[in-house]
Amino acid sequence: MIELAGGVGGNGRLQAVLLGGAAGTFLSPAELDTLLTFEGTRAIGATLGSGVVMPLDDSTDLKQILLRIASFFREESCGQCVPCRGGVVRQEETLERLVRNRPLDSVPEEIRRLREIGQAMRDASICGLGQTASSALESALNRWRLFS
Ligand code: SF4
Repeated sequence: MIELAGGVGGNGRLQAVLLGGAAGTFLSPAELDTLLTFEGTRAIGATLGSGVVMPLDDSTDLKQILLRIASFFREESCGQCVPCRGGVVRQEETLERLVRNRPLDSVPEEIRRLREIGQAMRDASICGLGQTASSALESALNRWRLFS
């Protein structure tokens, strides 16, 4: 699909693919042969989501992409339920501290905090927005060591 669309932009070296949009899943280049079907993506814990396939070359700052996604969800939350209303704000704040390399306590603790926030939003938010607000972030944390 990437080849049909003209290949990877930028420097041409693929770093990641965001599958399914802001509420989707990051894939590593090693996962490029994943079948773009519900079954194929489910098998690697991913989702087709909105259908977006966004290749990112390796000059892209993934941390900034994650911040933009977190900011998107913070802005889009309607605020009706507490897990999402608070979670999207805490998620963005925590991620910002990590990106600035200014963790509250330690990087592992901040990452643990991010995962806990994501779990709470996934389990207790009323609608799909809150339930998927941490999906892309967590998929990136599962695939790359972005913070140290
Ligand atoms: S999960 Fe849905 S209903 Fe709850 S605050 Fe977020 S956007 Fe609103």
